[in-house]
Amino acid sequence: MSSPPPASPADHGVVVIGAGVVGVATAYALARRGKRVHLVDRAAGPALGTSFANGAQLSYAYTDAMAGPALWKQLPGVLGGGDPSYRAHTTADPDYWRWSLAFLRNATAGRLRRNTLATLELALESRAAMAALLQRHALEFDHQVAGKLHLYYKAASLPAAEAMIALKRPYGVEQRLVDAAEVARIEPALADIPGIAGAVHSPEEEVGDPWRFSNGLLEVLRERYGVQASFGLDLRRLARDGTSGWRLEAADGQVLQARQVVVCTGIDGNALLRPLGVRVPLMAIKGYSFTAPCGPAAPRTSITDTSRKLVFCRLGERMRVAGVAEVNVWDPQPSPQRMADLVALARASLPRAADYDRVESQWGGLRPVTPFSSPVIRQARDGLFVNLGHGMLGWTLAMGSGERVAALLEAA
Ligand SMILES: Cc1cc2nc3c(=O)[nH]c(=O)nc-3n(C[C@H](O)[C@H](O)[C@H](O)COP(=O)(O)OP(=O)(O)OC[C@H]3O[C@@H](n4cnc5c(N)ncnc54)[C@H](O)[C@@H]3O)c2cc1C
Repeated sequence: MSSPPPASPADHGVVVIGAGVVGVATAYALARRGKRVHLVDRAAGPALGTSFANGAQLSYAYTDAMAGPALWKQLPGVLGGGDPSYRAHTTADPDYWRWSLAFLRNATAGRLRRNTLATLELALESRAAMAALLQRHALEFDHQVAGKLHLYYKAASLPAAEAMIALKRPYGVEQRLVDAAEVARIEPALADIPGIAGAVHSPEEEVGDPWRFSNGLLEVLRERYGVQASFGLDLRRLARDGTSGWRLEAADGQVLQARQVVVCTGIDGNALLRPLGVRVPLMAIKGYSFTAPCGPAAPRTSITDTSRKLVFCRLGERMRVAGVAEVNVWDPQPSPQRMADLVALARASLPRAADYDRVESQWGGLRPVTPFSSPVIRQARDGLFVNLGHGMLGWTLAMGSGERVAALLEAA
């Protein structure tokens, strides 16, 4: 391995706030460039927030934005609570309405195309960055190039799916529409699932456990790149320190100094930024997952059931199932009822994929979603950078986002 160049003694270094997948990937990209990095999180270890037990899909090809013309048809169900997997909790909060209106402004065919391609560009950078990382460092995180099948149960949905494939094809994305017979050939575990009208097959899609990844990469960062990591440190205030740095104050009175700061705090991004007059349009979209032993017909391919809005992802001998989108819910605690709904939906979707009677872990997390479905990666103030708003795809986009923000720091 080539070592990064040593940091100069005058360098106060870069503090990366937040050790989710995005923060850990950012720390890596900076350390590779020879920066002295201090990674800080208020939790007891890395990836204990939204990165903990997500759907585990590295969706490099399926980057379709959340808002598109189809949203208008879904809206009555979303607002009225008629759809158990996708519902909005309306409040009078102006931030909620500002975000919702911006989201609706993105629900046009033109914005859907533009936002999907913007995310695709970052996803393809992420795939390359992940491959380069894994060439340099062997990390164990149940990583597989498993391919993905996006299952459709209504023939009427297929033309729109085909249009999205055509949109991405010029960028080298391998995806094609397949019929039910071919679904069964690609993934024999789905052979007896009734009602499949067709599927989008993305053979190059990957999967991996984000918590194991973050822990493994952090170990490499500490041992091979000299990255310092502090956990249990809840930062409460950022302030300019003289002309060339930042002062970071923690809840327990500790103070850190940094030449540059990168805010990777996921859904809590605005708490530190708002007092500085910086705002990132973030909405919490709560989701759930559970992990259970594989069942007798556990697919090896990663599966998205588009009608029930569920993903199935095999991690070794365990099956991770994730779903549910509760807009404007800011408490990550899983509700037992919603959890039971998710298990029931999964059982109805792929009855033999997992041992649903032996669910090992249940989890809720808050996706930090922007109205345009791609993250905000920019310099917000002199020496202050944000890497926030990775929404539905933060695991997928983390590596490329780290590279982008590190390039911005280098250029600043
Ligand atoms: C149910 C579900 C399924 C999903 N499935 C997928 C999927 O299959 N593929 C995919 O690509 N993405 C998926 N996602 C999205 C993905 O998990 C997120 O986009 C991603 O985890 C966001 O990472 P992050 O590092 O920005 O945030 P987080 O993981 O939340 O990390 C932010 C960190 O900042 C810390 N922090 C916050 N404030 C402070 C502070 N003031 N001081 C110190 N530390 C602080 C927190 O403790 C936390 O550890 C899913 C999400 C959910 C909820």
